[in-house]
Amino acid sequence: MIESPMIISLPSLSRFFRSSSRLAMLVPLFQFRFTASLNTNKIQESLSIFAILVFNMNATDRLTELFMRFPGIGPKQAKRFVYFLLREHSHFKEQLIKALEELKFTGKQCSKCYRFFGDKSNDNKKLVCDICDTESRDKSILLIVEKELDMDAIEKTGSYNGLYFILGGLVPPLTEKPSELIRIRELTARIHTSLEENNLTEIIFALPVTDYGDTTTEYIEKIIRQIVGIEKVKLSHLARGLSSGLELEYVDRATFKSALERRS
Ligand SMILES: [Zn+2]
Repeated sequence: MIESPMIISLPSLSRFFRSSSRLAMLVPLFQFRFTASLNTNKIQESLSIFAILVFNMNATDRLTELFMRFPGIGPKQAKRFVYFLLREHSHFKEQLIKALEELKFTGKQCSKCYRFFGDKSNDNKKLVCDICDTESRDKSILLIVEKELDMDAIEKTGSYNGLYFILGGLVPPLTEKPSELIRIRELTARIHTSLEENNLTEIIFALPVTDYGDTTTEYIEKIIRQIVGIEKVKLSHLARGLSSGLELEYVDRATFKSALERRS
């Protein structure tokens, strides 16, 4: 038997599994570093036990772990989803599996507004969503939102017929590198292209009425003003009929319509 002094340290392995709450219970087991004389059989045995512990999760545990990766979903809510699925008829589960399969192969991100969309055609060159691709939309107006849910909510109101741009985040006050938090380079590129192609005449800010929203608006306005003149493109903001801090994603038709009409 070959005996050799070995150092076993598995910090990277523990870091890898730390994201999983179930597996996190195993982390302390590997938070040690020990020097000992171990034979290869013992090492193999230890690794086998580890593999059994890690990979012997059942389907409900695995599903709970996956749901917990969703934004805003904690362990309790994740479990609730799993129990809901357990109770549901197999038809619902088949529909869900089918939709996920479709998403896996058809999910694309629009190169103009940055919205994720499903595209059943196998055209890999199609990187523009239906909204940006619709001829009848007013291409002279660009509305800036923080996230896709805001865009979806506005679309649902049916009160806006221009185009969109999704920033992908907001800038907190006193941030040193705001350009790393939002799609500002993509936005300026989009404005340049729109000016060349569509006679862009107005950019509407539809960001939250919060410190973050105001800081973001201020930052973007400053940058846009370096690209376009005041006389060429009007910068406007939704009227503050949207109560302070109200999430745009929950806005109703009447409120949004009024805020859009009274924009300034
Ligand atoms: Zn688009």
